Amino acid sequence: MKVCKFGGTSMATAAAINRVKKIILSDKERRFVVVSAPGKRYSHDTKVTDLLYAAYAEKCEKGSCSNTMSAIRARFVELCADLGVKADINKYLDEVEKGINESTSADYAASRGEYLSAVVVSEVLGFEMVDAADVIKFKHDGTFDAELTNDLVARYANSEKGIVFPGFYGRMPDKSIKTFTRGGSDFTGAIIARGVAADVYENWTDVNGFMVTDPRLVDSPKGIEVLSYEELRELSYMGASVLHPDSIFPVQIDGIPINIRNTFDPDQPGTMILPSTEGYDTPCITGIAGRKGNTTISLKKAMMNGEIGFCRKVLSVLERHGLSVEHIPTGIDTMSIVLSDFQTKGIPEKKIIDDIRGAVNPDHIEISHSLALIAIVGHGMANTLGTAAKIFTALYNAGVNIRLIDQGSSELNIIVGVEEKDYALSIAAIYNAFFG
Ligand code: ASP
Repeated sequence: MKVCKFGGTSMATAAAINRVKKIILSDKERRFVVVSAPGKRYSHDTKVTDLLYAAYAEKCEKGSCSNTMSAIRARFVELCADLGVKADINKYLDEVEKGINESTSADYAASRGEYLSAVVVSEVLGFEMVDAADVIKFKHDGTFDAELTNDLVARYANSEKGIVFPGFYGRMPDKSIKTFTRGGSDFTGAIIARGVAADVYENWTDVNGFMVTDPRLVDSPKGIEVLSYEELRELSYMGASVLHPDSIFPVQIDGIPINIRNTFDPDQPGTMILPSTEGYDTPCITGIAGRKGNTTISLKKAMMNGEIGFCRKVLSVLERHGLSVEHIPTGIDTMSIVLSDFQTKGIPEKKIIDDIRGAVNPDHIEISHSLALIAIVGHGMANTLGTAAKIFTALYNAGVNIRLIDQGSSELNIIVGVEEKDYALSIAAIYNAFFG
């Protein structure tokens, strides 16, 4: 049996929802459906979730969200009219408006897009709707309660009728609504897939699966047919944004495959994400992803390698500031620490430097920005001679200066750091070296 999650573009218009209906009704294994809030209908449109955050902001500022709510109302009223939905959508919208005006956190507001989508889609499909708040649970400290949730979802595994669940949110022990991070409906889909012991978790979006690299940087890159869980983690952590990076955790417990599919081109097989790709004919490099916006702290100290506790003391300073570290390339007398910029925001750089100075008294310390990290990912590289040589030759030929190199012992990826200005050029050069 299959769990199918549909993203925002698949929910954006009546035409898209009718496609969803066709997809679901074409395969009786597709019994569990998870929906996002309606996304953008055209490039300058606003996602319903963003409107809902704006509604909450309006209520905080003016005491009522009525202005923004009328835009949200118009979208759902139109959607229901186009689909011929009989449910009294205005009654639901009144309830949402009242709830936002009475709420004290943005989460309730943000969650209502998924809730309303589920109301609409369950009627269109003739499926039952189960509110995510009744099955997706958080603990008192706000962390996701995986085991309680799994038990609650499992109760629906043998349901005769198809079920639609809203994505993105669940309930706290105090009954309030809490959302996952943005894009979290993917995570809900994975939770439901685990709970009902699905054979496959189909994640329906608006692209034909993962591509080897970012299509904004390389013209029509090749698609990825199969990907392992580990490769997916590496690629999504480094910026490949097709799927929420946490989606892997629930499904990997039972080894459930994820199939990324395109609602707007359902004949395409998409990308299959499996516990392992052993036995598949996969290329040496599976994907190339990267992100700009990294900070490097570089330290020098003579005889650093002999000073026991040096690294620990430096890392303790970062821990005290709540900073998590991306990479730590070291030399005999040097140590570099790479952090992503978004983490350091709000913490005065001088304070970090002074604290490190106080802890280890380096001969030299400097902080620099504008480092882009690129991850070249693939299990295949472990057994292929010359992968690194090919990468570095490609960068050399493109005139790119490499500022950092890091390869994990698992040989699943090679990370290179380059100046941000060389980022796009580097991705294209590496892609062409392997796939051009
Ligand atoms: N609607 C939410 C968002 O825009 C969650 C999701 O679509 O997965 O982030």
